[in-house]
Amino acid sequence: MHRLVNTLPAYNKMMAISTTITGQSRIINLECPACGAQYDASKPNTFCITDGCNSTLFAQYDLSRPLDKTILKDRPASMWRYRELLPVINAESIVTMGEGFTPIIPIKNLVKDTGGNKVFWKNEAGNPTGSFKARGIGMAVSKAKELGITSIATPTAGNAGGALAAYAARGAVKAIVYMPRLTPQVFKDECRLYGAELVEVDGNIADCGKLVAEGAEEHGWFQISTLKEPYRLEGKKTMGFEIAEQFNWDLPDVIFYPTGGGTGLIGIWKAFDELEQLGWIGSKRPRMVAVQSESCDGIVTAFNSGHSSAEFVDGGFTIANGLRVPKSFADKLILKVLRDSKGTAITVSDMEMNAGIKEIASHEGMLIAPEGAALWQAYKKLKSSGWINAGETVVLVNTGSGYKYLENI
Ligand SMILES: *Cc1c(COP(=O)(O)O)cnc(C)c1O
Ligand SMILES: [Zn+2]
Repeated sequence: MHRLVNTLPAYNKMMAISTTITGQSRIINLECPACGAQYDASKPNTFCITDGCNSTLFAQYDLSRPLDKTILKDRPASMWRYRELLPVINAESIVTMGEGFTPIIPIKNLVKDTGGNKVFWKNEAGNPTGSFKARGIGMAVSKAKELGITSIATPTAGNAGGALAAYAARGAVKAIVYMPRLTPQVFKDECRLYGAELVEVDGNIADCGKLVAEGAEEHGWFQISTLKEPYRLEGKKTMGFEIAEQFNWDLPDVIFYPTGGGTGLIGIWKAFDELEQLGWIGSKRPRMVAVQSESCDGIVTAFNSGHSSAEFVDGGFTIANGLRVPKSFADKLILKVLRDSKGTAITVSDMEMNAGIKEIASHEGMLIAPEGAALWQAYKKLKSSGWINAGETVVLVNTGSGYKYLENI
């Protein structure tokens, strides 16, 4: 008892330091990576509307002025530690629940299957609302608040809806969520509990997207559909900053990413570019691997056929709802990252994901999302085919907790 009381002040002091967000954003503007058009970041923006270009927009920062890594020393253990490279200008706009700075966890008991490689999870399961969507949505809601937006709508396969509902509640803005009726009940329940307006749709996420666009037109909601809004990407790119920092600024050889809309894949790659411009890392890059469900394999097919854009593919239900994206809005950017990084793309079936969940839960003590399990199975395939070399360091991004998926596993 005595001991506990005595340690409390020190503990509180530590917490007080680590939750204070310091630093100043260095955002300059938004730029189209396809046509170079510039957009004013002090106004609400969506995607590139110049001459029907339709590309995702990239936030640009002043990276020419020096910035020393030592700024990170007393920063919070959340994605907000990289404040200079994030778009939110006023600290009061930030809506946070400690998202990000998730742990790197080595594969421990299945090392025989890793064939001499060092394989690590970047485990996103502990984020608020149980997935890495907290990063992108936390950033988008914060920036929307800064821009004076009061109602935010999104189509979702599940996790983005829960995250939007939670961050909207905390940020005191209105959330409207469109979700396929076939999404597991827990994703609907959490949205309602967080006070969002939930619309169930007889269709897939693409159908939800169309309805959100119509509703936005009619009611003036701000839409944050994947990569049609610039700042979810900025939230998810923080995974790239963290991987660099957690590997002591020496990037791993291969990163596996479960690719739906591809926000994280594009974001991680953008983060590495920014870090190199700051001189925090060199030019070495990991090979990026996009993993998709057999039922929604548009990126894998396009990659294997040498195409620079993907077709619309919806083969129906998959337990990995985050991967049921018939066509990513940023297909061209995803394919470019895969090629620039000398990476690859590969599919995994629902049966394999189920087996992967059980294997990782029973041997590693982690109940991961089906999307994460897909990466483990994809890793084993690429290891046995010889695509992964002996001694390479590999990171698998477990994008969410498996607990929300139990009814389908
Ligand atoms: C949304 C989601 C994905 C896909 O993320 P993108 O960055 O859009 O490709 C993967 N896994 C989980 C658990 C998700 O919720
Ligand atoms: Zn453009």
